[in-house]
Amino acid sequence: MPGTELFGAEERKEIDDVVSTGILFRYGHDAQRNNHWKAKDFEAEVKKITGAKFAHAMSSGSTAIATAMAASGIGTGDEVIVPPFTFMATIEAVLFVGALPVFAEIDETLCLSAEGIKKAITPKTKGVCLVHMCGGMADMDPIMKVINDHKLILVEDAGQAFAASYKGTYTGLFGKAGSYSFDFFKIATAGEGGVLVTNDEETYKKADVYSDHGHDHIGNNRGMENHPYLGFNYRISELHAAVGVAQTRKVPGIKEKNRTNKQFLTSELSKTEGIGFARIADPAGDSATFLNLLMPDTETAKRTVAELNAAGVGGFNYWFTNMYHFINQWDHIKEMRTVSKLPVEVLGAPQDYKNLDLPKTQDVVGRLISFGVRCTWTEAEMKDLASKISACAVKAMKPVNA
Ligand SMILES: *Cc1c(COP(=O)(O)O)cnc(C)c1O
Repeated sequence: MPGTELFGAEERKEIDDVVSTGILFRYGHDAQRNNHWKAKDFEAEVKKITGAKFAHAMSSGSTAIATAMAASGIGTGDEVIVPPFTFMATIEAVLFVGALPVFAEIDETLCLSAEGIKKAITPKTKGVCLVHMCGGMADMDPIMKVINDHKLILVEDAGQAFAASYKGTYTGLFGKAGSYSFDFFKIATAGEGGVLVTNDEETYKKADVYSDHGHDHIGNNRGMENHPYLGFNYRISELHAAVGVAQTRKVPGIKEKNRTNKQFLTSELSKTEGIGFARIADPAGDSATFLNLLMPDTETAKRTVAELNAAGVGGFNYWFTNMYHFINQWDHIKEMRTVSKLPVEVLGAPQDYKNLDLPKTQDVVGRLISFGVRCTWTEAEMKDLASKISACAVKAMKPVNA
């Protein structure tokens, strides 16, 4: 959680600006706000890092990805290809815009593969919600070929991949729209917050309107604005945006430290036979928030996890069994337990979510152990961690009868 490691005076200064005027709302109140526009500043900082033409700060990464889909034209009855390894928000967003999730295979990049997407396409497929997992990025060249060949709408959930890029293009900017999360667990935090990015002006305008009850934000008399589309309240507050501004300014420095630290740990752990690593589609673009180990098989990974727990080594996720990021734990979607009826229940799910056949994904996530990279680690701490991980892995890999 690098953002939270570096929380201090800069965040306080931005918050104080807002508190000094009491204008907690991002729109209007021009005379009272003493020229403090934190949501706009937050958007400007995100644009500076990513090169996005348009950025729109919102209440969360979840509302940002839902808005990205809606503004891209994905709605009721559209099939959207999604990964079974992601934070649940991706799937919720598809369902809540009325669309129908279709799960496809990931590969060793931890993201949907071009091949997986291709196999999941049906005549009803409208788009793909690609998720860039664990600070890295999907393998975009082959994926873009499939997207373009089949004329699909691409939306990117880059909730975990702010400041990551592939061959010079930042995540979130390959398709119609993308989103970043600034919740408490990401490379930078706003407390709660998200930012939608796009290079398409029309999509940006729709997102702007959709995320604020349809207001077009033209002029400064809110009561008299036009409402080109229906929308809802997905706004960010100025207090949250203030934190987001200060944190986003720290991201280039955080990323550099993360990368150095990840490289150090990678080279230490490479010395241990049997420890492998997730494939980084473009190593030069890694935001390096996670060090992703791929063990030889699921059983070895489980034994390694048990050894790590026994040795008191924390700071890692074994998504296969423990976390809220993998389909095996999503009983509520498998059983389709909803508090009120969703379009997918009326239209029928395109797949039997209880019996999905995704062997490649089961294999990759079964082997995966992800360590959160800290930007404040010392070399001594990293050496110690690497030797503990190695020792646990070596024990776990010993033949059972030896
Ligand atoms: C964190 C995350 C989200 C949700 O973001 P919130 O800001 O917590 O709503 C969405 N997608 C992915 C991939 C995430 O990791």
